[in-house]
Amino acid sequence: MNRGVKFTGVPSMEEIKACPGTPSEERFEKGPVVAIECVQKIPCNPCEAACPFGAIEVGSSITNLPKLDEEKCIGCGICIPKCPGLAIFKIHKNYSEKTSLVEFPFEYLPLPEKGDQVPCGDRFGKYIADGKVLGIKNDKKNDGTTLISVEIPKEYFMEIRTICRGGER
Ligand code: SF4
Ligand code: SF4
Repeated sequence: MNRGVKFTGVPSMEEIKACPGTPSEERFEKGPVVAIECVQKIPCNPCEAACPFGAIEVGSSITNLPKLDEEKCIGCGICIPKCPGLAIFKIHKNYSEKTSLVEFPFEYLPLPEKGDQVPCGDRFGKYIADGKVLGIKNDKKNDGTTLISVEIPKEYFMEIRTICRGGER
C-alpha cells in the first residue's frame, strides 16, 4: 500500500485526487489536459510562469500548492518540462475508444523510438501494461528533459506515468 509522499516519495492516489492540480473527472472526459501531481508544500513555482494561458496559479505564498484552472488549460504541455519535480503529466483520456494518451517527462537513457511497444509503469516505475510510443520531444531548451507520449489502455490513464527503466516487465 502506498502511504503517501512523506513515506514513499511517491504521492498516493488519495493525495493526488485531493490536490488542486488534478482535473475533475468531467474535464478529463473533454480533451487533453494536464494533471499537476504536486502534493507537497515546497517553495517552488516555475510552473506558474510557464503557462502562457494563465492556467496555473501558485500565488503570493511560494509554498502554495499549484492550482490548475482546468477550463483555461488546453493541454499544450508547455509546463511539463519546466517542473523540476517532474510532477506534471498531459493526459488525453479519450484518445480513442479504448486508449488514452499520456505524455510524461523522462530523464533516462536510452530513449525509445517512435512506434516502439514499451513497458509502462506506475509512479514507482512498476510495470502495469504495454504502450505504444507516439511521440518524443527532445527540445534543447528543455535542458535534457525529454517528453514522451505513449498510447496506453484507457483503464490505466490515472496509473501509468512512465516507461519502466531497463525495459523490464
Ligand atoms: S498544458 Fe499548457 S495550457 Fe495547460 S497548464 Fe500547461 S502550459 Fe498551461
Ligand atoms: S514546478 Fe512542479 S514541483 Fe514546482 S510547484 Fe510547480 S508542479 Fe510543483
